Amino acid sequence: MSHPAPTPRTRIRRLHEKAAYDRAVIDAILDTMPVAHVGHIVDGSPVVTPTLQWRKGDRVYWHGSSASRMQKRAADEQVCLTVTLLDGMVLARSGFEHSVNYRSVMVFGTAEVVEGAAAKEAHLRAMMEQMFPDRWNALRPITPQELKATRILSLPLTEASAKLSTGHATETPGDSSWPVWAGVIPIHLAVGQPEPAPDLAPGLPVPGYASGYRIG
Ligand SMILES: Cc1cc2nc3c(=O)[nH]c(=O)nc-3n(C[C@H](O)[C@H](O)[C@H](O)COP(=O)(O)OP(=O)(O)OC[C@H]3O[C@@H](n4cnc5c(N)ncnc54)[C@H](O)[C@@H]3O)c2cc1C
Repeated sequence: MSHPAPTPRTRIRRLHEKAAYDRAVIDAILDTMPVAHVGHIVDGSPVVTPTLQWRKGDRVYWHGSSASRMQKRAADEQVCLTVTLLDGMVLARSGFEHSVNYRSVMVFGTAEVVEGAAAKEAHLRAMMEQMFPDRWNALRPITPQELKATRILSLPLTEASAKLSTGHATETPGDSSWPVWAGVIPIHLAVGQPEPAPDLAPGLPVPGYASGYRIG
């Protein structure tokens, strides 16, 4: 595992005490939250597209329709991918000092296209296996047409930063006696009970990766 040193793009300037460049910290955030936002430039205008991401080794991946604008226009271009976990609302005595607790990652680089049907299938399997272990082999096999209709982009984790905000508000000196409630409202993502497809054949048990699914 490589540990990216901060670059001019990833050196955190604002509240730099919250920065982390350690790959273990970056990987843990990427592996906890599959939703990413990919920012790129289309015809001179910024576009930020939400999508799913997964990490394998030293790279982060995301996929989509070969026809999607993002998949076509971000390929071989500079992008910034972010992943965010919201952990709490932080209420201070003044409006100015309100904030949020969070863990977030930003990755910069040139989005590379995964080429070749075999490589694409291997990456799609890896994505599925990470989310739902052992499911890929139980599925109707992917077809050549489906592989052709899918594009996968990736970024190396060589230019990445994490920022983590925890704890209570930093109050303005003298504010602590102000008579208003202050504190943290923790936020957790909740996973519900799996809901079987309406046309599910009888007798198929709920797999452990569905009943025990965890996120956040
Ligand atoms: C859920 C959430 C809510 C937030 N709400 C606010 C808000 O309301 N107002 C506000 O000012 N800020 C907020 N932030 C913090 C915000 O993401 C920026 O860190 C902050 O605005 C400073 O931006 P900057 O461009 O000056 O950062 P700089 O420190 O100049 O950024 C330099 C580099 O540091 C790294 N970096 C900066 N921010 C992050 C980050 N969040 N995660 C990972 N790497 C980072 C990047 O590599 C970036 O290129 C929030 C963050 C999260 C995750």
